[in-house]
Amino acid sequence: MRFSKLRLNGFKSFVDQTDLVIGDGLTGVVGPNGCGKSNLLEALRWVMGENRPTAMRGGGMEDVIFAGAATRGARNYAEVALTIDNEDRLAPSGFNDSVMLEVVRRITRDAGSNYKINGKDVRARDVQMLFADASTGAHSPALVRQGQISELINAKPRARRRVLEEAAGISGLYQRRHEAELR
Ligand code: ATP
Ligand code: MG
Repeated sequence: MRFSKLRLNGFKSFVDQTDLVIGDGLTGVVGPNGCGKSNLLEALRWVMGENRPTAMRGGGMEDVIFAGAATRGARNYAEVALTIDNEDRLAPSGFNDSVMLEVVRRITRDAGSNYKINGKDVRARDVQMLFADASTGAHSPALVRQGQISELINAKPRARRRVLEEAAGISGLYQRRHEAELR
């Protein structure tokens, strides 16, 4: 499973549709302060099901929608689409019929978020589980925010264990057990 494309529309500073191709190997994003580099990483986190506004440097989830600028009005929705190359057929079971997976999340003002996988409506949980079982996702240890290293060093053992569980790829199982216990 490899991320191959990211499309943003109305997400934070990306007011016009922006298509980014993620090639093989290492990809670097460079640009002046405030040009949107961190917003890109947040878009990736968000499309994988991030639901904590603080993780998106916002006060509420709708803060990811383009808020307007001197010359442009605010947008009414934000959308991020992530294309995943599943040529190796390593996606979790249930998603392995396709060589390409497109995960789309859209948020509309006053109407919340909705998700699609390959054009079909799915729940937030389905998207979160897809990525959790693939050992990635909004909470993936591969996404490192500024200041996160020192947070980890100062974290309580339980919080540190969660990071290790994400890295080991068992957080999907952990979430299912939690839901089973609630029933
Ligand atoms: P640095 O090099 O300083 O880390 P960066 O390239 O990571 O900068 P970002 O933090 O991604 O920059 O982008 C910040 C910009 O995004 C700011 O100009 C901010 O006004 C803009 N921005 C954030 N949220 C929104 C929004 N909802 N609507 C419009 N613009 C937004
Ligand atoms: Mg930044």
